[in-house]
Amino acid sequence: MSATMTSHATELPRGSVTEELGFPSDPDNLYLQTVNTMLDSAELINLKHRTRIILAQPKNEIMVHFPVKMDDGHHKLFKGYRIQHNNACGPYKGGFRFHSDVHLDDVKSLAFLMTMKCAVVRIPFGGGKGGVKVNPRELSEGELQRVSRRYCSAIMDQIGPDVDIPAPDVGTNSQIMAWFADTYMMSSSHQHHDALRVVTGKPVEFGGSAGREKATGQGVADTLAEMLPGIGIPLEGMTVSLLGFGNVNGWGGRILQDMGAKVVTVMDHTGAIRNDRGIDCHDLFDYNMKTGGVAGYDKADAIEEEDFYRTKVDVFIPGALEQMIKAKQAEWLDCRVMAEAANAPCDPSGDRKLTEKGIEVIPAILANAGGVTVSYFEWVQNKNAVTWSAEQVDRELNRHMVVAAQRTLANRNKLKCSLRNAAFATALEHIGDVYKVRGIFP
Ligand code: GLU
Repeated sequence: MSATMTSHATELPRGSVTEELGFPSDPDNLYLQTVNTMLDSAELINLKHRTRIILAQPKNEIMVHFPVKMDDGHHKLFKGYRIQHNNACGPYKGGFRFHSDVHLDDVKSLAFLMTMKCAVVRIPFGGGKGGVKVNPRELSEGELQRVSRRYCSAIMDQIGPDVDIPAPDVGTNSQIMAWFADTYMMSSSHQHHDALRVVTGKPVEFGGSAGREKATGQGVADTLAEMLPGIGIPLEGMTVSLLGFGNVNGWGGRILQDMGAKVVTVMDHTGAIRNDRGIDCHDLFDYNMKTGGVAGYDKADAIEEEDFYRTKVDVFIPGALEQMIKAKQAEWLDCRVMAEAANAPCDPSGDRKLTEKGIEVIPAILANAGGVTVSYFEWVQNKNAVTWSAEQVDRELNRHMVVAAQRTLANRNKLKCSLRNAAFATALEHIGDVYKVRGIFP
């Protein structure tokens, strides 16, 4: 293979699969972006055509509508999705989100990415994703509970502890997982305690795992610790910029700080802040818990969005919603490495710009795989009725992340491609091997 590191994305043939499946050629569509990355990477490893067409579409697309009684007595109709992308390697696995901007194509992409993510870290799951179109901040606790329970009952027949295992994602948390599990376990055919494996990310007192809450942030830190020295960035003293300060970056920022990094800028939905001497993420976390955002934090200066992106740092970590880094933001960025803590944080135009600028992107299917990896540990603990210590969870997580990072680096050297294509190739090799031995039914 003689291609340079960045040239594959435009040169490799995707045509036969996208034409065969009748996909439109829209360069800015998120679902096609994911499919195209898969097809480019499949080409690099000569993946069988049949595996490419199977992966280019999700296996099942479930769409539901359900009414919920609101506190004022009226009934509101909600739309929900559960996309089951692929289960060749194990049960469908992936979170569900509550967000006002949930659309079919986005959930399809996210489910697809879960298939790739589970295969990169070699956990025995496939990929799925769900969502309800709702802004959870606008609901009372009672309404939130009723939406969670009705969503569970609407998709109950299609999921299960060995079929499809949801988990937290944007706008959902361990309390929602507890209501979800309880609803599932209350139905007559699931009234055995093992049914609590139907969902992960549960509270520790109800089958949750130590370390699950911090797992995605910990996985980002473990991946960076493994990869940065090779890129020539020492962890000690490296400067970091965080986009988003919720579960993922709230934990990731504190863990990286404890490893010696200096966080200089943070931006969330409330505003952006900067302190060149370093922002104490532990203190900011406490402040954020009290106020619901980083705006107004008085140990840093308030800055504009553009200044946030333009701040020169070693590592930029988008850990908020997907598709926030478009060409404009990518043009502003002044970093050496981007670690994708959120799923699909760059839109196609942003991705092209980052490649052009030579910014090294550690892709989400590797960088943020820590969450689903500890979900797997939770599922294993539930299945065996055992409890692992926090140390055991951390140790096993680190082992999975390090091996996944090493496999990705080895593929990047072998295939002479971007880290994104190398991580996809790592996943596809595994899925291809599974299809090879399983064959296609009948
Ligand atoms: N929602 C998380 C993700 O996108 C976790 C999924 C899970 O734990 O199943 O990776």
